[in-house]
Amino acid sequence: MTDFTGLAVAGRVATPSDADWDEARAAWNLIADQQPEAVVFAEGTDDVVAAVRFAAENGLRVAGQGTGHGAAPLGPLAGAILVKTERMRGVEVDPGAGTARVEAGALSAELGEAANAHGLCFLPGSSPDVGVTGYTLGGGMSWFLRKHGFACNHVRAIELVTAAGEARTLDAGSDPDLFWALRGGGGGYAIVTALQVELLPYAEAYGGALLFPAELGAEAVRAYRDWATAAPEEATTCIRFITPPPIPDVPEPLRGTPLLTIDGAIAGDAAAGEELIAPLRALGEPIMDSFAQMPTAGLSRIHMDPENPVPAIGEGMLIGELSDEAIDAWVAATGPGSGSPLLLSEMRHLGGAAGRPAEGAGALSHLDAGFGMYSVGMPMTPELGEAIPRHLDALHEAMRPWAAGQYFNFTERPTGIDSILPAEVCERLAEVKRAYDPDGRIVANHGVGA
Ligand SMILES: Cc1cc2nc3c(=O)[nH]c(=O)nc-3n(C[C@H](O)[C@H](O)[C@H](O)COP(=O)(O)OP(=O)(O)OC[C@H]3O[C@@H](n4cnc5c(N)ncnc54)[C@H](O)[C@@H]3O)c2cc1C
Repeated sequence: MTDFTGLAVAGRVATPSDADWDEARAAWNLIADQQPEAVVFAEGTDDVVAAVRFAAENGLRVAGQGTGHGAAPLGPLAGAILVKTERMRGVEVDPGAGTARVEAGALSAELGEAANAHGLCFLPGSSPDVGVTGYTLGGGMSWFLRKHGFACNHVRAIELVTAAGEARTLDAGSDPDLFWALRGGGGGYAIVTALQVELLPYAEAYGGALLFPAELGAEAVRAYRDWATAAPEEATTCIRFITPPPIPDVPEPLRGTPLLTIDGAIAGDAAAGEELIAPLRALGEPIMDSFAQMPTAGLSRIHMDPENPVPAIGEGMLIGELSDEAIDAWVAATGPGSGSPLLLSEMRHLGGAAGRPAEGAGALSHLDAGFGMYSVGMPMTPELGEAIPRHLDALHEAMRPWAAGQYFNFTERPTGIDSILPAEVCERLAEVKRAYDPDGRIVANHGVGA
């Protein structure tokens, strides 16, 4: 057992002998049973430096974590110090430069609100309490994805602590390889302390959700697919089958009701949004229709993702062409009458800027796929804990003929990077790992050689 009394930080070092150890080691995803040697709650860069140096002196590894939304694929963390950045929440917007400096623990909604106060926004994903850092290091699929590509390619500079315990700020000019790796290749190369990101000039967008009865089924999915395929890049949308659970985050009348939802955002004004969305509104009698012109800070809430920790078992798969046969297979496995134990299965529309190589891109440049499927269940009972992974396997098997790879942030089973990014990208990531972390000090989900 390592003696952590020599690890001095301004924040806190929690160890298994602390009364609140279970709380200290917990992640947002309650399914993750993290068992590190210690948890450092860092107050700033100096604390991260101290943790990494202490790890090096004591033969330990180090993992960075903002919220634990991505904790499921991280593994049990034996022999590691978990550096939690949840106390490092500063967001400074420079409206003149159109950038923001975001500390490693800041949440999507916090950056959204700070940027929106200046008529700007970053690239918000579907959850307000996902960490900006983890989301961006893994790519970052937002409601402006088809117009502006992945969030990782809108990073200007990265402040970090290297595996050798040195605090640095780097950009494309200073350290092109490490800067490249961290933008889409995940956090396995250093511990990030802050990101400097570009903001986009959207104070508002037309966004929301249409909730229909799930019984609309395959015919409605086909109509959506045709609509999405013809839609301009300003529109980034998602269709899903969902049965909202009986939790406080869900409005009472919707709990337990099987739904077909279409949600997303149009980068434009209300008139353009209304016109574009009209055919979707005509698909049936919506149970709820929240599409409206809204401040961009509101976009991370249109998907109604849970804002409190929950147990979740999920997995993603990229889909090449969403053909009629693919839709039939998907609806049979997750739609009405399927008996699916999943909370939801969704298809996020890709293409546009997300399908073209981005200029000056990081490790994730673009994705060659038409849709991103993501499915998840909440194992509230031991029976569900067994049924959910079984059903995810069956769904993925059924969709295999249309599979087109993986997306980092939606790969929730512990796999190495090789099964997510192209071979030539993985080779370059392995070189970066050898150059910047030769002892394998930094541990991350989907790491090199993991
Ligand atoms: C409800 C929900 C909604 C989601 N919606 C979207 C979405 O719309 N678009 C999308 O692209 N993804 C989405 N995701 C996936 C999400 O982006 C990933 O789970 C991401 O890893 C979360 O980042 P985090 O910092 O919150 O999580 P964490 O678990 O804290 O971090 C995930 C990983 O990022 C790395 N990391 C985090 N902080 C640091 C650091 N300081 N230094 C080095 N590495 C670090 C580590 O490898 C860590 O294991 C969603 C996930 C959930 C659960």
